[in-house]
Parts: sequence; C-alpha cells; structure tokens
Amino acid sequence: MPGFAPEAAPLRLALDGAALVSNWRWLSRQSGSAACGAAVKADGYGLGAAEVVRRLAAAGCRDFFVATWAEAAALAPFIGDARLSVLHGVRERDMPLAKALHAIPVLNSAAQVARWRAAGGGECDVMVDTGMNRLGLTPAEATSGLLDGLAIGTLMSHLASADADVAQNGEQLSAFRAVAGRIPARRRSLANSAGICLGTDYAFDLTRPGLALYGGIPRAEAEGAIRPVVAPQAEILQLRTVPAGATVGYNATWQAARDTRVAIINLGYADGYLRAFSDKGRAILGDHLLPVIGRVSMDLVALALPDDCIASEGDCVTIAYDLAESARLTGLSPYELLTGLGQRYARIWTN
Ligand SMILES: *Cc1c(COP(=O)(O)O)cnc(C)c1O
Repeated sequence: MPGFAPEAAPLRLALDGAALVSNWRWLSRQSGSAACGAAVKADGYGLGAAEVVRRLAAAGCRDFFVATWAEAAALAPFIGDARLSVLHGVRERDMPLAKALHAIPVLNSAAQVARWRAAGGGECDVMVDTGMNRLGLTPAEATSGLLDGLAIGTLMSHLASADADVAQNGEQLSAFRAVAGRIPARRRSLANSAGICLGTDYAFDLTRPGLALYGGIPRAEAEGAIRPVVAPQAEILQLRTVPAGATVGYNATWQAARDTRVAIINLGYADGYLRAFSDKGRAILGDHLLPVIGRVSMDLVALALPDDCIASEGDCVTIAYDLAESARLTGLSPYELLTGLGQRYARIWTN
C-alpha cells in the first residue's frame, strides 16, 4: 500500500528532542551528585520509548525503568549497555525473558526474592515500601534476613505525595534512610520527578524522573525550568458554516448563536483527546485560538473559526496541550494526558 512520509501524516505528535534532553539535564543537576535515570514505562509516557531512550542515552543517561518485561523486550535493541530495570518484578512466566534480556527485575515481594534466588540470583533491584502501600517489601521483611547474600544493584522506594508539602515526604525519607542503612546495595534511590524538586536529601545515589522529562511540572520548583516536549497536530478535514440556531456534534451540546464557520479536524478520544476537552479545548492556527465546540467524538473534533481567521481544508492546526493548563481544564492528570496519546499519531521528532 502506498504510504506517505511521516511529516505528511494527517495526525502528528510533534516531539521536541532538545527539550527532552534539556529537561533531563535540569533534573540531573537538581539531583546533585546522584545519577539521574529515566522512567520510560508506558512507551515513554506515550512519546515512544525507543526514541526517548536513544536521545537520553546519547545525553549520558545510564539507568532506565520500565513496568513490564514486554516493555523491556521492546527496548532491548536500543538499550546498549545502559541499565534497564523492570518495576513489576518477576513472575514465574517472566523468568525465561528475564534470563534472556539484558534487564534487571525490581523484586517486590518475598515470593519474587525466592524465585530469583532459585533461578541462580544474579544482580537484581529491590523495592521497599515506605508508606505508599503499593509495591515492595515492608521494611520489616527487607531487614529480616530475606535479602542476605543477594546482589542488589539498586535498593529503592517510591514517594507517594512528593508533589505536595506534606509530612508523608519526611516520614518516607526517614523510613527509607533507616532501611537503606541496614541493607547492602550498590546504590539507593528514592526520588521521582517531584521528589527531585524536594532537594538533594531525597536524591541518594540515583533519581528516577518520568513526568518532568516529558514536560510535566511536578512542583512549582520546576516552573520555568522544564520545557514542553509534546504538541499534537491535526488537519482540517472539512470547513462548513453552521447557521444560527443549528447544533454541532453528538447530542447537540453546542448551538450556534449566530452563523459560525466551523473546522472539523481528524482527532478524537481514540487519540487520547478525551471528552473532557469538549467545549473546553483549543487549537492554534496562526495567531488564532480556535475553541473546541460540542462533544469530542472518537475521531473528530469541531473548532469554531474566528471571523478574521483564514483557513482551508488540509491546513494543519496545533492542539493547545500545555500539560498544566490542560489538566486544570479537564480534571485529567498530566500523566493521563501523556500516556493516553494513542497509536494513530505519526511521532515526529525535531532536534
Ligand atoms: C513511574 C515511576 C517513577 C517516575 O515517576 P514520575 O512521577 O513520573 O517522575 C519513578 N519510580 C517508580 C517506581 C515509578 O513507578
């Protein structure tokens, strides 16, 4: 089937490689003497993990984190001699992949520790739960002798509320210090993006940012330093004039107060542009802001054209996708705004 160059694809995700690297460098500086890794789970938060890894590895990043073995296998050709950790640990069924791949399980439970030992051990990472009550050994389990003799590369824990100024941060820091002092590991790691913003007390030997790499602002400290990376771009499929009194879209939620020129674009909730953007989102065409009118459909969105806006079918519009602003408008989190970006975009990297 004849195709077209990705740059000519009707739906695109414009990705700024220089901004990605600049964000990693800033996070790396904020991490002080700790190494700065990168969480690239969920296909690099929706951007495309292989290209993210390639660019960050070239910038000096040596530690990557995915959730699953399928994600690890997909990245294997791009990881080189960098370190790739698998956060979900190992199930029995994962053992063949775990042995074959150049990737390391993050052991989360006593059963996973036993499984790894039975398979001959080898370097592993270990997660300790310090109060989130998600994955990880309890501090009591971790210090019970369960880990004796294991070759632990990174001992880690995860912060539950680092995006807020709450007592839980200090409590998790103390709990992690206490347990880390009793378990031999090559490196210790606690901070995600927001945790890095809390200061170098939280950095230990290795940090694990995700969101901020991709342009999310985890805390006020990152404002002005973290640059946007992602911009969806769509195409005008059809222009029409909706006469006064007529309605647009499913369930006719928008009604024209006067004759209104409308542009229909090739984007919808199947692309992660969820219905929460209905009557709230905006697109940019030249100097003009085009409001989303009516419901977002699966594959289509309607935009109102200002009177002085010149537009043609085939024109490209950029979707306003500032993560903080979009999160405020829609009630979605910046994580959801990124990881929901679907597979229909041609992902086009610049820089
Ligand atoms: C996703 C994840 C991170 C990255 O978190 P961000 O908030 O995106 O910076 C770090 N560590 C673990 C264990 C994670 O699951």
